[in-house]
Amino acid sequence: MSKTKIGVFGGTFHPVHNGHLALARHAADRLGIDRVLFVIDRIPPHKVLAEGATDAQRLDILRLSIADEPRFAAETMELLREGPSYTVDTLKALKEREPDAELYFFMGSDMLHSFTTWRMPETIAKLATLVCTVRPGEGGGEEATAADLKQRYGANVILLDEVSPLSSTLVRAHIHDALPITDMVPAAAAHYIYLHGCYMPNELAPVYAQLRADLKPARMEHTAYVLETAIALAARFGADAKQARLAALLHDCAKYLPEEQLLAFADTDPAMPPILHAPAGAVRAREIYGVNDEAVLSAIRLHTTGDANMTLLDKIIYLADMIEPSRAFEGVDEIRSAGTVDDMMRLALSRSIWYIKEKGNPLHPATLRAYESLGGMMERFGENDALAICKVLYDKKANDILALHIGDKTIIADWFVVASGTSQNHVRALCDELEEKAEEMGLSVRRKEGYEEARWIVLDYGFALVHLFHPEERAYYNIERLWEGDSNMIRYPISE
Ligand code: FE
Ligand code: FE
Repeated sequence: MSKTKIGVFGGTFHPVHNGHLALARHAADRLGIDRVLFVIDRIPPHKVLAEGATDAQRLDILRLSIADEPRFAAETMELLREGPSYTVDTLKALKEREPDAELYFFMGSDMLHSFTTWRMPETIAKLATLVCTVRPGEGGGEEATAADLKQRYGANVILLDEVSPLSSTLVRAHIHDALPITDMVPAAAAHYIYLHGCYMPNELAPVYAQLRADLKPARMEHTAYVLETAIALAARFGADAKQARLAALLHDCAKYLPEEQLLAFADTDPAMPPILHAPAGAVRAREIYGVNDEAVLSAIRLHTTGDANMTLLDKIIYLADMIEPSRAFEGVDEIRSAGTVDDMMRLALSRSIWYIKEKGNPLHPATLRAYESLGGMMERFGENDALAICKVLYDKKANDILALHIGDKTIIADWFVVASGTSQNHVRALCDELEEKAEEMGLSVRRKEGYEEARWIVLDYGFALVHLFHPEERAYYNIERLWEGDSNMIRYPISE
């Protein structure tokens, strides 16, 4: 039975990145290594970066990054050891723990060249095979050094090509500058970094601290996803990455304010509970988070409703909120893969308009303005149901049946359906018949008025208000005259 081969990959992993993972996979495949231990170094206190990550966070990021690779494991003995860690001590400890294993110690070419200066090089050479990775085109003299070390210490050196030009320094620089790290670290690691604000500029530390006080954990998760998406969209469409980062972080900062505070900020008319945290968020971002950048505040203010003439940043935050990776509604992938930011916006807005109407909720006029300003054409929501109501009334011998599309003029409903009976009894009979048939169609009446007198009965179906008139009342209001020539007036039955 051949011995278990264990790779020993030391580093600060600050943070671990796809280059480390690719190298470990490559070495394991090439050398038949069964397990790779990522030995995470302690960072001496004087070297800790201000804009960094704690030891615990580095370790979390490492664990998340290797979770999908059964051959990889995190080894914390150096992290836990007080004082400086020497490779020789680590290798001795591993050998003691697994006396039958063959150890392979991974190193870069700079480490190979300085090997003679290490603590107890001869012992290291006896304990492990040295696996040296060389950056193509950058190395020089590794073969000679290997031969020299073989002679001096009997060291067994294997040279491997480095497989990735990535470095932790580059990853940190991208995080610092709000540039995407999608191709640099595994998705779970990126999410963790955004969730905890690792490697972010110092000025964001108080922002993260306040957010953790303002938001529930699930909302913080969502915020981290919005941040990741906003950074990707900003890079894709050329928006200011740092503004996008700040707006994404703060977009929901007022989500849990008490309602009376939310209402105080509602400069919008009509005030609607689910969207109030957006204008309130802009106020809170200014007053509590000290944000003075109007572009950032505007993106926060508009993230639930949109509006006409949105800036690129406004659009990016609106979209990021809607399509972040944890969103899974039907059609979300279509929005994600649309070609331009305006194509994405049209799809996103028509999707939310449809959703709001389907739930029977009032549509904020700003949402409609946003959609129309991008050249979106409103489909007539609920047209089939409105015409089905007309048919029920027609079959029951109603007169002068009209379906009026009012959806782009008012938020109270999308349709008025108007019809007349010949008498109070007939009007009541129309009402009874409609209630029964509408229920079979899955439409539920929310409100009914005027049934006793039966001179003007109103039935509210949410998307449609049905008006059933006595002929005298109908003549008095003369609705047709107001709508003459309007393409939003449909006479039923529809003549060919
Ligand atoms: Fe929100
Ligand atoms: Fe949100």
